[in-house]
Amino acid sequence: KDGEPPLHILFFPFLLPGHLIPMADMAVLFAARGVRCTVLTTPVQASTIRSVVDRANGSSYSSSAAGTPMSISVVPFPDVGLPMAAQSGRDLATSRDYHDRFLQTVELLREPFCRFLSDHHADIDAVVSDSLFHWSAHAAAEHGLPRIAFLATSMFARACTDTVLRSNVFESCSDDHGAVVSLPGLPHRVEQRRSQMMDPAKRPHEWAMFQLIHAADRSSYGELFNSFRVLEPGYAEHYRATQLRRRAWLVGPVALASGSLEDVASRGAVAGALSPDAAVCLRWLDAKQASSVVYVSFGTMTNFSPEQMRELARGLDLSGKNFVWVIAKGSTAASSDPSTPDGFPTANRGYIVRGWAPQVLILNHPAVGGFVTHCGWNSTLEAVSAGVPMVTWPRYADQFYNEKLVVEVLGVGVGVGAEDYASCLETHRVIAGEAIAESIRRVMGEEGDGAAMRKEAKELGVMARGAVEKGGSSYDDVGQLMEELIARRSSVGCT
Ligand code: UDP
Repeated sequence: KDGEPPLHILFFPFLLPGHLIPMADMAVLFAARGVRCTVLTTPVQASTIRSVVDRANGSSYSSSAAGTPMSISVVPFPDVGLPMAAQSGRDLATSRDYHDRFLQTVELLREPFCRFLSDHHADIDAVVSDSLFHWSAHAAAEHGLPRIAFLATSMFARACTDTVLRSNVFESCSDDHGAVVSLPGLPHRVEQRRSQMMDPAKRPHEWAMFQLIHAADRSSYGELFNSFRVLEPGYAEHYRATQLRRRAWLVGPVALASGSLEDVASRGAVAGALSPDAAVCLRWLDAKQASSVVYVSFGTMTNFSPEQMRELARGLDLSGKNFVWVIAKGSTAASSDPSTPDGFPTANRGYIVRGWAPQVLILNHPAVGGFVTHCGWNSTLEAVSAGVPMVTWPRYADQFYNEKLVVEVLGVGVGVGAEDYASCLETHRVIAGEAIAESIRRVMGEEGDGAAMRKEAKELGVMARGAVEKGGSSYDDVGQLMEELIARRSSVGCT
């Protein structure tokens, strides 16, 4: 209403790039719609967020969209001697020992967050906090504020996990390696190998954490997804109506909606450390034919054994395709594998990025025709937005469900044959070079299902853009949430 102050939403992201970047993008897109946004974060992460916010405050994007300026508030991250954190400049110990530190990090931020909320709650209309901060639901409720959980995953994966948690799916199933578990009541027939699922008996701590997170999300005002409706056919309805009667909004892909794709340089800056190789890599791609390069990257947390690295190198060699391969700094592979990059047999066909790659730009380069991915949700969504089909190689968390969505529901990918749910520090069965090469050739193929997948992927890319444009489903969901919060403000004000 005229004369009323704009909505004020407090965003509280988790500290890993796969959570932090999409939430920052999400804040930018709400600011562009006139919402006053404050991002609450830790000192180390503030610089990453600041680059997003500066862009939003200063860019043609926000001024042309009549955006509201955003601000950042910093809470201290208690010094508890996370040894790797000092070296890596992260609040959270480097992502590769993330599992050990994960619970600790989630807990450490509780106190500073609660203190901030006590001081500022009167000025805030809603809290959007990462789903992992389960305790923030209670903290917001104490001040009468609606807490909206931000899910850094697909709605599909979320619905599957929810089913697993609520029904005794393991009871009627043997614990054979190959046993298949049916997940009842979902819009699609979903069957998952037991070995690809988190096993409560083997991972009691993770399981307990999952239960806490899901319970907190159910008790929250609603849930925000970085996704769009046609990408997950039937799931928004399922989620809202049948399954949980939950409020849920799909407002993505946020990287498209926030305009971050349009600013090449700042996308690099968001990542914190754009490798000097990045520009050279993009120029290397410029010289390649359209759709002739496969991009190979496994996000920020995947670690392969030296043996798996050798097989991957062999697979890329056998595939006969051009490739860009990202070997993350800090992974075992980065230091120990002798076959990369100098002695790499196919060096003239391939480009290796050591460190941080400009993934979104690479995926959107016309030379790129396929993506070998671990199915992290951001990577999956970025591939979908760029219209690129995938070779799926999931490892843990939501990745096997995302693979299912990509391969079975959407038909835009081929599985490499990953079978075991195991975190980055555990041993995985090695996937042979031949299997890797075969799936790359299928996805990159001009004929057969390769062509069909490419066509389908291109169409999804167009739909992703349509979703965030004015009148698109994600654009409308943002508007709907804002209206609900404004209505809530009026009704709270009246009582
Ligand atoms: N990313 C990137 N360059 C890299 C590695 C990762 O830009 O070299 C980005 C990638 O584009 C994505 C995010 O980091 O946005 C990784 O998130 P995802 O959910 O795919 O995987 P996670 O790292 O959380 O397992």
